Amino acid sequence: MQVSDCQDPTSTAAIAPYAWIERALETLHRADWYRRVQTIAGLPGAVVELDGRRVINFASNDYLGLAGDARLIHAATEAVAAYGTGSTGSRLLSGHRALHRQLEQAIAQLKQTDDALVFSSGYAANLGAIAALVGPRDLILADQYNHSSLKNGARLSGATICEYPHGDCTALNQMLNQQRPQHRRCLVITDSVFSMDGDLAPLPAILALARQFDSMVLVDEAHATGVLGATGAGGVEHLGCTGQPLVQVGTLSKALGSLGGYVAGSALLIDWLRNRAPTWIYSTGLSPADTAAALTAVQIVQQEPARRQQLERNVAQLRQVLAPHFSLLPSESPILCAQCRTPAEALAIAQQLQQAGIFAPAIRPPTVPTSRLRFSVMATHEAAHCAQLAAVLTTIPN
Ligand SMILES: *Cc1c(COP(=O)(O)O)cnc(C)c1O
Repeated sequence: MQVSDCQDPTSTAAIAPYAWIERALETLHRADWYRRVQTIAGLPGAVVELDGRRVINFASNDYLGLAGDARLIHAATEAVAAYGTGSTGSRLLSGHRALHRQLEQAIAQLKQTDDALVFSSGYAANLGAIAALVGPRDLILADQYNHSSLKNGARLSGATICEYPHGDCTALNQMLNQQRPQHRRCLVITDSVFSMDGDLAPLPAILALARQFDSMVLVDEAHATGVLGATGAGGVEHLGCTGQPLVQVGTLSKALGSLGGYVAGSALLIDWLRNRAPTWIYSTGLSPADTAAALTAVQIVQQEPARRQQLERNVAQLRQVLAPHFSLLPSESPILCAQCRTPAEALAIAQQLQQAGIFAPAIRPPTVPTSRLRFSVMATHEAAHCAQLAAVLTTIPN
């Protein structure tokens, strides 16, 4: 190729280097894979205003109803007044506040670990933790249904990645047998509550295999923290694995009603992450408002078990409402998924529900292998909300 080819004005590539975007978007439309945002007005809650209409909200990750809680709002407002809006730098430079340390200690206490470290999001916590723990000489074994942040964290680390079929410890055992001896370190990574299905990872069995094969385990408690376990510590507690040698990751943005992420574990692990997790070292510290709101939420989780108990009753009630109309995916969490045959069917039912005042989104490929309506339950849903859903479902052809 000659240099002059690069400047050829008749080359289509040179004239329209971005033309592929329009064609690629058209392909998404044709497959019913196209996504768009919908606007929510006002405070978050069990009932919200969506695109100008009041709807019952089965789409939120705010499981305990804390994102609109007056105590979190007050804590965030006070923190802004006292410390300003931004934390102004990396935690290692100008961005570290006593408030961050208080939150980390509260998370460690909730999780019953030595220590914890807060990141600017759960996504960043996963990317940073995985990249700090393994590298190109190492092995990652990952559940096929893991969250995007775990998948991309694995890629970022440069480790060899083997995905095992969802929840399949027999396959995990085989892969460990075949692959473990060829690698320096090994990390098994899994969601605890799977975010788009609602079922749980077989954590005790995974931990037993990890022990046998000298492997680390990273578990993502994003949808479990504040929701599962006797004290709200999460899936690890619920499954009887408290105190096991684990790297526990989670988010402050779901049941805790704020924004940010964390890693909880041994003192040495957290010390290592402060020195080696790129998304913590080279990213601005969590804002004072988010930090203070999350700290208040952790306290509420510990002081108000009644919220969790109400949530559990609401899940049972919603399950009863949905079961006659849909085939539900197996779930042990507040995430209930109604299976649909095609993306178009999922979209059509979601649209009909929305017109009838029910907000439950269609989840489609490539996020998940099969289309579904995803209902997430909140502690602040009332019996009347479920009754209205039940009435609407009888009017929708299926
Ligand atoms: C939401 C979610 C995350 C990301 O957390 P953010 O704080 O929203 O970035 C990570 N893992 C899982 C399983 C999630 O559902």
